[in-house]
Amino acid sequence: MAEQKSGKEFSNDSLTRLNISIDAKSLMEKLSYRPEAIEIVEDKLRAFCPIHQDKNFRTFTVDLKNNHFKCHYTQCDGYKGGNLLYLYSIVQKVSLGEAAMYWSKTLNIPLEEVKKEGAALAEEEETSAAAPAAEKTVKENHFNKGVSFYTRNLLDEAVKEFEIAKTDDPDKELQIHNMLGLCFMKQGSYDKAIDEFKKGLQCKGYEEKEYNGLQYNLGRVYEASGKVKEALEIFQVLFKKDPKYQDVEQRV
Ligand SMILES: [Zn+2]
Repeated sequence: MAEQKSGKEFSNDSLTRLNISIDAKSLMEKLSYRPEAIEIVEDKLRAFCPIHQDKNFRTFTVDLKNNHFKCHYTQCDGYKGGNLLYLYSIVQKVSLGEAAMYWSKTLNIPLEEVKKEGAALAEEEETSAAAPAAEKTVKENHFNKGVSFYTRNLLDEAVKEFEIAKTDDPDKELQIHNMLGLCFMKQGSYDKAIDEFKKGLQCKGYEEKEYNGLQYNLGRVYEASGKVKEALEIFQVLFKKDPKYQDVEQRV
């Protein structure tokens, strides 16, 4: 990613991972340009373009296999297309870096910062002198590997990595339950997903935003499995805490 005005640069891998984790329909509803006309057929979303705000034609599509959008109107800034982070940045008029940080926070998916070469070198020397730091890096890889498999839809592989990460990296227990829940949800194993999100909520000592993320995902899986009442209860709690949280406004 060439241009990120926030001053931070994130690895392409982590941006791809983040982009694919965004629920395209929720994003479109959040951008709130004629959300009633959003239509999903198989793996394609069609809508009125939120960039050039078309009045008559649904020129805007998102390929849900890779969360890539395109507007088919040649005069539109979205004609060349791009990922959903880019879409969010154009419509909300923020930098790509800000868009990435927003979604990273909202979805509780970490971004890897790309370090300047000099800094990386200095850190490498430091790491080789301090064994525990090196060990920590190795441990974290299972979690990151899991997220990477998840974003490529290799869900069985992702689950395996997260299971290893459980014993290897107990500090990430909440996030591991969250990711396992997301994997099972994608596989349609809703009961297992519900179980993971609930386990995550029982973890102690994390920041409130982490619990909100889990609640939100639990609400979504309840909704997907037809447990509308349970879903609504959760979205109402989140809405009371923060009416602007994710898309809860539209869900209550
Ligand atoms: Zn357009």
